[in-house]
Amino acid sequence: MVSRVIPVDPFDLVIFGATGDLARRKILPGLFDRFCDGQMPPEARIIGAARSDMTSEEFRTLVDEAISEFGGALAEDRAAVARFLDALSYETVDAVGEDGWEALRGHLREGFVRAFYFSVGPSLFGDIAERLRSFGLADENSRIVVEKPFGHDLASAKKLNATLAQHFDETQIYRIDHYLGKETVQNLMAVRFGNMLFEPLWNSQFIDHIQITVAETVGVGGRGGYYDKSGAMRDMIQNHLMQLLCLIAMEPPAKFDPDAVRDEKLKVIRALDPVQHHHVVRGQYEAGEGEQSYREDAGDPRSRTESFVALRLNISNWRWAGTPIYLRTGKKLAVRESEIVVVFKETPHSIFGPDAGNHRNVLVIRLQPDEGMTLDVTIKEPGPGGMRLVDVPLDMSFAEALGPGAQAPGAYERLIMDVIRGNQTLFMRGDEVEAAWAWTDPIIESWVARHDVPKPYPPGSSGPGDADLLMRRDKREWREIKA
Ligand code: NAP
Repeated sequence: MVSRVIPVDPFDLVIFGATGDLARRKILPGLFDRFCDGQMPPEARIIGAARSDMTSEEFRTLVDEAISEFGGALAEDRAAVARFLDALSYETVDAVGEDGWEALRGHLREGFVRAFYFSVGPSLFGDIAERLRSFGLADENSRIVVEKPFGHDLASAKKLNATLAQHFDETQIYRIDHYLGKETVQNLMAVRFGNMLFEPLWNSQFIDHIQITVAETVGVGGRGGYYDKSGAMRDMIQNHLMQLLCLIAMEPPAKFDPDAVRDEKLKVIRALDPVQHHHVVRGQYEAGEGEQSYREDAGDPRSRTESFVALRLNISNWRWAGTPIYLRTGKKLAVRESEIVVVFKETPHSIFGPDAGNHRNVLVIRLQPDEGMTLDVTIKEPGPGGMRLVDVPLDMSFAEALGPGAQAPGAYERLIMDVIRGNQTLFMRGDEVEAAWAWTDPIIESWVARHDVPKPYPPGSSGPGDADLLMRRDKREWREIKA
């Protein structure tokens, strides 16, 4: 397959927090990939900004090292790296003070798209937004990119939205959720709304239930202190899993434009029933062989923060009433795997008799590690011996099906190119984020009120046994996650 890369308009991109972990691991190596692919035009400029006192030359060395460490095979092309580094400069800026802002303005050119990426802690978002305006760096056409977490609860998200709205219009604010930049997540929309095959069956009449799993093998490790104030509900469910849920459950938007898509996503969140407490399971990983427990990682022997959540939710609308959705995410699980599993109902009547067994179609949309889709189809087991049925997967790995040219850009780089193009479709609108918190807050509040203690689970497992019970009570089971 020939890849068709359309260069974006020339831009000035300022990355606040350019010396930080996210910038070095994802943002800058991702931009280098876009540069090599010809999508980032030669006139584009990237300006790093952070507290550290360093020259542009020292910053280029830092980025060179980041590309070597975290970039792909292209990092070995020294000439390309040198050309990319030429587009970089650096300014020492204090986000909460006055220093560096005038000098930073000197890096910006008239007549180019201007974007400001806030890759810093959330406590600095408001200060930076305010200074961008007061020092005259941002104009009506500038864009700001805001990292997660977007608030800690509904009240803080509302406050942050209000602060940003004092300085920028909603059309200028890009709240990033990197899950939305994954190729398969966008493919969800292509599969649902680009084929005749699925959408007529995409409702409670034909779908028994849906499972969304995001399993990680890593623990909270070095970021235990930060994570302990958050937990899996805030860190994963409220944003990433909620976004996946919206795309899988929303009504077809009238067109593929930012507000049409985001209106439909918002309706899904607003149609969620409050979750009953016996439909939620929280877990916390224990110590394993040579591995610390969550509480040791978090540095708090009495921590009640969850590193695992499984829950059952219901969407109260015509399409989904009667089809439960199960979400599950956790750390230190058996495998690193993210997938959406759509389990169809059995046929209303089996013409093959009771011996043929129970069969159903299952559509699995894999987000990681290898992006692709599998559809289980029931066929006759080959050979003599009568009509025995067997389920076989129609397996489609996107990399295999579309060939090497189909190598998808990483989520961050893809989303940054959307910012430059001015396309907000894959970014969360302020009201979406608030609606997600409005649904999440009562669940967390009820844990606090009941002094809920998360159930322990061994590292390398599929979470606490109660998560399996949640399914078994409904005569269902999770698709197995195992190494
Ligand atoms: P980090 O490694 O702690 O980096 C923070 C950056 O902010 C550094 O470049 C730091 O500059 C800069 N900074 C801090 N205070 C500043 C100030 N007063 N003025 C100017 N710059 C200041 O954090 P990170 O892991 O990169 O995370 C950045 C943001 O992305 C956070 O909101 C985080 O929640 C979010 N995020 C991170 C990840 C990830 O994988 N790391 C994933 C998703 C979301 P100096 O080092 O020069 O002081």
